[in-house]
Amino acid sequence: MFIDPHVHMTSRTTDDYEAMAEAGVVAVIEPSFWLGQPRTQVGSFQDYFSSLVGWEPFRASQFGIKHYCTIGLNSKEANNEALAEEVMELLPLYLHKENVVAVGEIGYDDQTPAEDKYFRQQLELAKEFDMLVQVHTPHRDKKAGTIRSMEVCLEHGLDPSKVVIDHNNEETVQEVLDRGFIAAFTIYPKTKMGNERMVEVVKRFGSDNIIVDSSADWGVSDPLAVPKTARLMLKRGVSREDVIKTCYQNALDVFSKSGKMEESHWLNAEGIDQSKLFNDNSVLRGQQPRIDSDKIV
Ligand SMILES: [Zn+2]
Repeated sequence: MFIDPHVHMTSRTTDDYEAMAEAGVVAVIEPSFWLGQPRTQVGSFQDYFSSLVGWEPFRASQFGIKHYCTIGLNSKEANNEALAEEVMELLPLYLHKENVVAVGEIGYDDQTPAEDKYFRQQLELAKEFDMLVQVHTPHRDKKAGTIRSMEVCLEHGLDPSKVVIDHNNEETVQEVLDRGFIAAFTIYPKTKMGNERMVEVVKRFGSDNIIVDSSADWGVSDPLAVPKTARLMLKRGVSREDVIKTCYQNALDVFSKSGKMEESHWLNAEGIDQSKLFNDNSVLRGQQPRIDSDKIV
């Protein structure tokens, strides 16, 4: 069994859901983020957040995958301050929903003053709601941006064991682990952090507090990155125990602290029933629904 704790399923197809379920992915966490172009109105955020707590979990369930999400104002769009103010007012309406396991993904992109302001405000919100935080670290000026993200979390009094720092690499991981945060790694198919490099990270830094994810979205990315990396780790001699920790257990351990994610959600799940509807809508296009009378697991 695998968990992909960072994947933007809204941007993916039903083929991806089928392939992920087939490869052993039992649960996903979908962070709210940007669309590739800036939103112009708060209503776009509202509908997007609503889909992350409504339609998308339903769609995932139709393929036997348990869907959770994180809700937040992403760093890029924090730079439109007028809009950001309106989004901040929306967040409390969504954070308490049953599949929302953290405030995220939040943090820095260009490390502007506006990004800093809304990152800090959302950390305060996480404290107020007693929630986990999922941090997006900048792709430019990565190391300084990662350290700054953690220092700001500590300054606001967050418990580092309840903060997942994502998009790490070999240069940042030690700093993250030393400070007691959870270090997530996004595996990109061709650039940045590839799965061969991930194998070396686990060999060098061990498996404690390290998480593998795909961050698959509308760009070139791979929704099977977690199972593929797991397979490669085994092939390269990483122990089965370390593979389970980095590709399943560590994500479960940290995100279950939300009180909203638990193993029984998939171990005791009812079988797939594609005859079900969400607001009178189904994922089928007149096709025969798949109905499993037996349990999935
Ligand atoms: Zn993301």
